[in-house]
Amino acid sequence: MTSWTTPAAPADADARRRARPVVTYTVDQLPAVDPAFYARARDGALLVDSVTVPPRDGRAFRVPKGHLFRITSVEGPQVGDLNLWHADNLAERFFSGKTRALHATHVTTGDRLWSVMPYLRPMATIVADTLGWYGFDDDGAGVHDVIGTRCDPYTNHLLSGGQYHRCCHSNLARALADLTGLPVREAELHVHDVLNVFMCTGFTRDTHRYFMKASPVRPGDHIEFFAEIDLVGALSTCPGGDCSASHSSDAQACFPLLVEVFAPPEGALEGWEGPGISGYDRSHGR
Ligand SMILES: [Zn+2]
Repeated sequence: MTSWTTPAAPADADARRRARPVVTYTVDQLPAVDPAFYARARDGALLVDSVTVPPRDGRAFRVPKGHLFRITSVEGPQVGDLNLWHADNLAERFFSGKTRALHATHVTTGDRLWSVMPYLRPMATIVADTLGWYGFDDDGAGVHDVIGTRCDPYTNHLLSGGQYHRCCHSNLARALADLTGLPVREAELHVHDVLNVFMCTGFTRDTHRYFMKASPVRPGDHIEFFAEIDLVGALSTCPGGDCSASHSSDAQACFPLLVEVFAPPEGALEGWEGPGISGYDRSHGR
């Protein structure tokens, strides 16, 4: 039987491996995040809307610029898959890859969720995270990752066959279709790589394969965001439940997630304009 072969290491292999790691983007290059500003927005904020996402389903919601939204675990440990779009332009959507590069594989308070090119601006800033204590565990896993994509019926069909409709991809597609009136096959095209809210993930040490483990989230835990621009959000309650064993099936215990939208108190945002789109001129050297 033929198999792939690994090339012999060159004589200076060890020296090449000892090259010093350089953090690609440093946080101090990013526009500053002012905790006091966000504290003013949160202090005395008023609940204006709430939606409960049932288990193995999705719901979409609107968050006006300058408002806050909070995702809370209720009833039992549950992972959520979050998509974000500009409310007036679905082409401006969350860019998980660049968010990962600018911040880290897992995000927490003070980190921002960035939009795709050519916009590339903060869509939301994380202003509270009750799982912020978790950090990275002995397996190298953390919470709220921007490395996974979303469970989807295509990969499920590829690997297992069958037609499973309650994957996060489909839940998000139905949620966006319901909010916008788009047919679900069109809404699906706007669904993108997610923020895996409450999900606990990492890469195995030996082969660097993506893994998940039981989420440390418990009822009452929440993560809260400040909307830097007018947003449409969609949240799926992953059929993986707490993602301790499997996904893309009805085997796991699943629970709802609560989304609440808050308006900041009068005057708290005085002088604030919000981020504009990227200043790059888009001529690309032509
Ligand atoms: Zn999922």
